[in-house]
Amino acid sequence: DKGLSKTKESFFGKIARVIAGKTKVDDEVLDNLEEILITSDVGVETTLKIIERIEKRAASEKYMNTQELNHILRDEISMLLTENNTDDANDFDAPIAKKPYVIMVVGVNGVGKTTTIGKLAYQFKKAGKSVYLGAADTFRAAAVEQLVIWGERVGVPVIKQKMGSDPASVAFDTLKSAMANDADVVIIDTAGRLHNKVGLMNELTKIKNVMKKINPDVPNEVLLVLDGSTGQNAFEQAKQFTLATEVTAMAVTKLDGTAKGGVVIGISDQFKIPVKYIGLGEGMEDLQVFNRREFVDSLFG
Ligand code: GDP
Repeated sequence: DKGLSKTKESFFGKIARVIAGKTKVDDEVLDNLEEILITSDVGVETTLKIIERIEKRAASEKYMNTQELNHILRDEISMLLTENNTDDANDFDAPIAKKPYVIMVVGVNGVGKTTTIGKLAYQFKKAGKSVYLGAADTFRAAAVEQLVIWGERVGVPVIKQKMGSDPASVAFDTLKSAMANDADVVIIDTAGRLHNKVGLMNELTKIKNVMKKINPDVPNEVLLVLDGSTGQNAFEQAKQFTLATEVTAMAVTKLDGTAKGGVVIGISDQFKIPVKYIGLGEGMEDLQVFNRREFVDSLFG
């Protein structure tokens, strides 16, 4: 089952039950709502913010019926997302002003980094753009192999070196090859070893700096990939990576397999970094450009 149906059933099914038969928004409704938001991984901070806003509106409107509560909740969630996200759903088709557009992809192992890179390559290629992938996670043989498999599947070149080689050198080579071939998009995979924070920071900085020697404007995007089904871990990883490097966009994966899509709301609110893509499956096509309106619509039905 693809899409956000699990989140929808859980999140809003529960809300419907909480407010069924109620004629006004009292403390009990608010307490239950708070619990649902927290168990959907919206995060404590963002949940309290939402509850507080609803409390205020309920107090001023006195008798808020359940339909109105639903409406207001939808409003509040939209607002948290609007503040940080664009509604540009045509990213892959948009012309590329500065060629090549370099996306450096960061994130912990297992979150779906390689898969997301493969899906992005597929989408850009489908939109008529030429793509180069750089296998700069030289630490894990499996990471390079997986990227090569994706490169073959999608039909885009993968630049790699031998295991254990300098990731910055791979990034440099990739950018050079891409430029020599007038490529549109470069996507660089990186290693996601969080246990050594200083090491992570140094490695990401080095990769960036080496590419900047060729073109000071790159990377154009640092995309952090988070596993949407890991809840609080995703928040913690966002915290660590935003400390280690300047993250400009996020991709939240595995939202097809979880009832906890609320993570997208909390992450947007707390980190003020746009969620640009969401992963909804393991296949090539299972990546969407995140669109706030569609997201809220799909949750509230
Ligand atoms: P990496 O270690 O971060 O590069 O992770 P991978 O890209 O290898 O993905 C780890 C696992 O998660 C693989 O089995 C992927 O097929 C799976 N995966 C990645 N993205 C998604 C997604 O959006 N939905 C689902 N259901 N599985 C995903």
